[in-house]
Amino acid sequence: MQQVDVAIVGGGPAGASAGHAAASEGADAVVVEKGVPRADREELGPDSTDAAGILDYWVDLMNLDEPIPERVKHQELDAAEFVSPNATLELTNTNMESSYPNFGFTVHRARFDDWLRERAERAGAEYRVGTAVADVETDLTGAPTHVLTLRDGTEIETDHLVLADGPQRTVTGTVLENWLPEEAMDRLASRRANHIAYQEYRRMPEELFEGDRIKFWWGYMPGHTAYPWVFPNDDPVARIGLTMPIGMDLEAVENRDAYGLLRPEDERVPQGSTYIRRLLEEVYDGYDLADFPLLEDRGKSGGTETYPISSTRPIESPTAANVAVVGGAMGATSAFHEGGDHVAIRTGQIAGRLAARDRLSAYNAEWQAAVGDEIRRNCVFADVVRGYEPDDWDTVFGLVNRVKGRDGFEPYQTVYAGLTGAKLFGEYLWRKFGYRNGGYAQVRESEYADLAR
Ligand SMILES: Cc1cc2nc3c(=O)[nH]c(=O)nc-3n(C[C@H](O)[C@H](O)[C@H](O)COP(=O)(O)OP(=O)(O)OC[C@H]3O[C@@H](n4cnc5c(N)ncnc54)[C@H](O)[C@@H]3O)c2cc1C
Repeated sequence: MQQVDVAIVGGGPAGASAGHAAASEGADAVVVEKGVPRADREELGPDSTDAAGILDYWVDLMNLDEPIPERVKHQELDAAEFVSPNATLELTNTNMESSYPNFGFTVHRARFDDWLRERAERAGAEYRVGTAVADVETDLTGAPTHVLTLRDGTEIETDHLVLADGPQRTVTGTVLENWLPEEAMDRLASRRANHIAYQEYRRMPEELFEGDRIKFWWGYMPGHTAYPWVFPNDDPVARIGLTMPIGMDLEAVENRDAYGLLRPEDERVPQGSTYIRRLLEEVYDGYDLADFPLLEDRGKSGGTETYPISSTRPIESPTAANVAVVGGAMGATSAFHEGGDHVAIRTGQIAGRLAARDRLSAYNAEWQAAVGDEIRRNCVFADVVRGYEPDDWDTVFGLVNRVKGRDGFEPYQTVYAGLTGAKLFGEYLWRKFGYRNGGYAQVRESEYADLAR
């Protein structure tokens, strides 16, 4: 049986960063990645997907010890554009302190993941790809030990376990259920904790391609934080996608006529590909789907990708068992603004370093100190907009347009935009207060029965 100091399940941004950090501290670290094929990668690699936009201050939150190489980038961004049925809001500044010179950039996600893997290997971690972790057995008599069994029968014994298997939590779920009550496990079920995301790689007509901005349409599809987007890839290709809750009931949607991407004949929530066709036809007047050819040699499946994306609040880890849950598996990603690579990298990095130093007990406090503000803000915004209908988005974008200065805006500035702004601001503050001291976590460490230190 292989013995290591730190074993990491999943080799995406969180797992690779944990491997890098643990190995950099001198630990014997192995990252186990099941490995998936992709059209844009020759060998098996992590299950990379996303619209792949990185905002300026996220780079600082990643806390990398080297710059992100230019070869993994697609486009430098100057702006994000948010479109509602009757308003458009353009932000050219995140208004967050950051060292990155532009608004942000988009990346080639497979190259980005491969670079993170390369860093981990350079630091001395083993990155084992091609066989999934099938089972984890934990022994808590004495100092915790974990035995991972891989699908090919290989066994790996470790003192420290980092779970980085993404929002589906196939392994994380089986480990956490050792200590979490059923009711808490229900909260983490994929259909509840995740949204579905779907995207297509399409060649844009040259005159429509906007390489300097990411675009989102709000109030076009029903559902909490349900929206389509267009992200620039290599010129003139775009990743056109959307996210929406899993298993939505169209019958329960009020005001159906107000949503630009629904049709009266819809009997159920349209499929992702239908939404995308309607988006392209609706927002690019005079064009139809044939003007945006699908690039079947990209992505995971003939130019398309379907993924779960974590959409609720994060969980604290059972550190008394020397287990840290990181990245998408911990629910750090926000479907509200899609961003997750930065928190995945940072939480992985913290867990890897602490595991190598045999100090995982500090993990929950450390990730909260590092990315708690970011996660708290996302949780609060997602709550504030719950139940928004198309005209609410018009109101909010109109409001922000009125208050945003030349340099962008801060949510608190909406207070200057009259009664609606003050109400919104009040709700924002109230909810933020409710999530103080880590209250945004939907599973607290104290909930892991029999594990209290
Ligand atoms: C459509 C979409 C768009 C997005 N857009 C953005 C964006 O623009 N910007 C941004 O920052 N973030 C974005 N995100 C979020 C970002 O992709 C995630 O936050 C990030 O990938 C999380 O990293 P992770 O390493 O935690 O998990 P993942 O990237 O999900 O990696 C988990 C890994 O674990 C592996 N694995 C799973 N089970 C096992 C097992 N049993 N054994 C071994 N390995 C296993 C998987 O193969 C996978 O490689 C987007 C996500 C989606 C789905």
